[in-house]
Amino acid sequence: MAPSTAVVKDPIFMEHNPGPYHPESPERLRVLYQMLEDPEIRGGFLELRPREAKREDLERVHDPRYIDRIAETAGRPRTSLDPDTQTSARSYEAALMAAGGCLEAIDRIMAGEIKNAFAMIRPPGHHAEASRAMGFCLFNNVAVAARYAQASHGIERVMILDWDLHHGNGTQWIFYEDPTVFYGSTHQFPYYPGSGSFQEIGKGKGAGYTVNVPLSVGHGDAEYVGIYRRIFCAIARSFKPQLLIISAGFDIYRGDPLGGMGVSPEGFGLMARVLLEMAEEVCGGRVLVALEGGYDLQGLREGGKAVLMEMMGKRSSSLDPREVESGGRARVDALLKRVKEIHGDKWGEVLI
Ligand SMILES: [Zn+2]
Repeated sequence: MAPSTAVVKDPIFMEHNPGPYHPESPERLRVLYQMLEDPEIRGGFLELRPREAKREDLERVHDPRYIDRIAETAGRPRTSLDPDTQTSARSYEAALMAAGGCLEAIDRIMAGEIKNAFAMIRPPGHHAEASRAMGFCLFNNVAVAARYAQASHGIERVMILDWDLHHGNGTQWIFYEDPTVFYGSTHQFPYYPGSGSFQEIGKGKGAGYTVNVPLSVGHGDAEYVGIYRRIFCAIARSFKPQLLIISAGFDIYRGDPLGGMGVSPEGFGLMARVLLEMAEEVCGGRVLVALEGGYDLQGLREGGKAVLMEMMGKRSSSLDPREVESGGRARVDALLKRVKEIHGDKWGEVLI
């Protein structure tokens, strides 16, 4: 049987070099690509080559002058766009391919050739705003992908869920007034980039279509699986997206040098499992997973493997999500209550 899962990979993504000692290093992808050789993974997925995102694809999300600014970095050994965000000579090319790799995956998913895809790409994207590079991100890959699915495949509603340690400010603001793209995020708070409070809920027609679940340090598998199943899967069954995009950051891994969360490799697998099962129900299993952060190489390798196994329809662990969840029930109850207080108008009936 032909694989129903694809992985977007390409050596160009390792040509983006933000400088020595930068945590967002090419090494991150090297370990993920090595993981693909693991006997439990090898042969179980279709390998997709990315293409460059076109100007019109980027302009659905980014300001034309901003795109020019990023394009101007091409060929220059080092440009600093923000205190954390530096480019090398081929960063622009890598960024075009990172966004374009997501578009290639969307085309294959929508053609029914595959069900889901894991874009193992860099630079990451969720901090990139319409006209601002931030937090290691140049183009907002998931936002470009969501807009492309709507423009080129007639998709009306897209759900973006972001489990990265950090709040995806770029994605949030891009869709803040838009009820057709739901943005949900869990993130360490208060923390970089500063946004993502409970009260940021969207605006105008978009009110209620941004749901933030800010977290103090120390949340682990029980809470993460509980939040995604009880809050976001519940909302998804009501919102009924036709495509699910996951901003997958592995910096919530228990050993990540930038974060204070406690998710294990099994936890990543279980979070993926509950979301994939929900997607099966609401959108025919159409899921794009896009790599965001994650700075501990073991966390990337093991977390990435668990997620990919679940995407391929294999069990990454014998644990049961509901049993794992029980250890964090009180904390998730409190978070759910808070979300319900704030979003009662829109989602009150589905959050139980
Ligand atoms: Zn992050």
